[in-house]
Amino acid sequence: MKASTLSDAALPIAIRDLTKRYGPVYALNAVDLDVHSGEFLTLLGPSGSGKTTLLMAIAGFNRPDSGSIKFGAEEVILKPPHKRDVGMVFQSYALFPQMSVADNIGFPLKLRGVGAPERAARVEEALETVQLGGFGARGIDQLSGGQRQRVALARAFVFGPRILLMDEPLSALDKKLRERMQIELKHLHRKLGVTTVYVTHDQREALTMSDRIAVINDGQLVQLDAPEVIYNAPANAFVADFIGESTMLPLTRGASGLMYRDQKIAETRDGESWSLVVRPERLFFAAQDAQSDDNTIVLRGTLRETVFQGESEMALVALDNGIELAFRFGTGATTNSTGGGLGEQVAVGLNRKDVIIIPGETT
Ligand code: ADP
Ligand code: MG
Repeated sequence: MKASTLSDAALPIAIRDLTKRYGPVYALNAVDLDVHSGEFLTLLGPSGSGKTTLLMAIAGFNRPDSGSIKFGAEEVILKPPHKRDVGMVFQSYALFPQMSVADNIGFPLKLRGVGAPERAARVEEALETVQLGGFGARGIDQLSGGQRQRVALARAFVFGPRILLMDEPLSALDKKLRERMQIELKHLHRKLGVTTVYVTHDQREALTMSDRIAVINDGQLVQLDAPEVIYNAPANAFVADFIGESTMLPLTRGASGLMYRDQKIAETRDGESWSLVVRPERLFFAAQDAQSDDNTIVLRGTLRETVFQGESEMALVALDNGIELAFRFGTGATTNSTGGGLGEQVAVGLNRKDVIIIPGETT
């Protein structure tokens, strides 16, 4: 690929105190967010949490009520979208149906006054980058959904923007294609090196693709961290619940530390209340007579259900306070050998190194 389509320099984005209201609804509520130069950052949150509003504010398609957005050192809040030099990919593709593939991709170059010969060369390069070499003459209606999204992607980066914004670009694709495109998009990002803000409500997609994830809820930034940190050290119950599977057990403050019933779970820490977050894949069946020790916490309950799910099996264990512990184990292993049958008492182990504690009561 020629340097002409590469971003000359990726730009960092600095967002400060950004607020956008629709009537009584705060779509964005005092958001502070720094996107590093060249990183792949994902805005992750449930439907209606404000992801699109934030992305459109960065692109310039909506005007926030207050706050600041800087690209590098430059304040852009008053700049119209076409002067912000960002590439944009929408869920709906937003291609021009009457234009050929090549004309769609060449459109932003034409707008920028790039002449026909250079345009053709850069369009062909971009097509190769998205693995559609030779597709230029086709009509949009001759393409599959995945191919259309590749065209939309090529159109977004062909002019070498220093920021690339994508709003749920894969959500219309089926699962297999979506997962392949996630990997392809990641490769493309590595190749282009462009600062990328990606929106999804799919936590797996966010964990797969991102350098960092910004978790959004109710127009507010809840946590901003690398995927591993988001998963292993969620900031609160919302993040723990939204990302990955979990069961939350309420803790109390005892004389020697934070307790789950009569068992010490961790040292005392600041705050009023705490919960233990248990990830299903961190649990294991323990021997019936196993006891908690320095390395392991043992919980006892009744085996309520086991569900075969292909590569793994899910068990539900009802603790004697009624909380149901979700618990996942590989179907290839013999991990179930110490487990009893349905309705029987089982012992479930959790390594202390896998303990996750969040502030707040959750049950
Ligand atoms: P997400 O992309 O995370 O699903 P949005 O940014 O689209 O969320 O919406 C955030 C909130 O703002 C929602 O409550 C939504 O109903 C509201 N909202 C978004 N756009 C508009 C609009 N043009 N008019 C009124 N309310 C809007
Ligand atoms: Mg949206």
